[in-house]
Amino acid sequence: MSPEVKPDFLISPEGLRIDGRRTDEMRPIELKVGVLKQADGSASIRQGKTYIIAGVYGPRELHPRHLTLNDRAYLRVDYRMATFSVPDRKRPAPSRREKEISMVIANALKPALFLGEFPKAVVDVFITVIQADGGTRCAAINAASLALADAGIPMRSLIPAVAVGKADGKLLVDLGDEEDKYGQGDVPMAIIPNTEEITLLQQDGSFSREELREALQMGINSCKYLHELQKEALKRAYIKKTPDNGDDIEDEDDFDDDLETDLGEAELMEGE
Ligand code: UDP
Repeated sequence: MSPEVKPDFLISPEGLRIDGRRTDEMRPIELKVGVLKQADGSASIRQGKTYIIAGVYGPRELHPRHLTLNDRAYLRVDYRMATFSVPDRKRPAPSRREKEISMVIANALKPALFLGEFPKAVVDVFITVIQADGGTRCAAINAASLALADAGIPMRSLIPAVAVGKADGKLLVDLGDEEDKYGQGDVPMAIIPNTEEITLLQQDGSFSREELREALQMGINSCKYLHELQKEALKRAYIKKTPDNGDDIEDEDDFDDDLETDLGEAELMEGE
């Protein structure tokens, strides 16, 4: 493989990025729900060349016992990169970066989950990065949130996440690997879309107050778009097909009503 060469510029004179995207344009995204047979819930995401699978097991008995939380389930997230996920072989032992990203992902997901429903149990979320090309922590949150929904873990909302960065002085959403490496910084974020509550906010590089404000607004807009894609992926997995003609037997409107009813019940539980 030829060694990677630093690009001359990240934004062309026409204002386009190295892969031809506009500054506020996400990479192509493909979300799938129910991709693993043995897991209680699962999902995959392709975001540009980044490809990630998330599997959820639980709620189930927690081992080792000393980690038990008496009033809620323990959300245990394990983010790992496959050895072949990056051009240089990734060492198989868990790195400090992987441990930190696991913690950050758990913290981003927890505010949406009713873990108090399952005291003393564990909900295990295993995330494997199959191919890394920038933005893996955010793509992992997008997939893990769908996998948790697929496992039937009660939640207030799905959680979408995206990184907004800066290159050649311009703000860009959803950085690819080169933009991440050669850009001036990035701000990964995750939100609860209905309330715009921020559940993940990190910053690498320096941003002025005005840039940060604009980056947050770009991130919120992209997260809302991602949230629609997440809901569509769930619908595709759960609206059943008749065996003969492939028509939907559950109406999409009914599915939306069910989602709203579930959310209503969830809010009720939260208020208790
Ligand atoms: N990366 C890599 N080797 C590593 C870790 C990361 O090549 O051991 C690349 C990978 O493409 C990743 C990018 O660097 O997506 C940015 O990594 P960062 O730590 O900023 O996290 P991410 O943007 O993936 O959330």
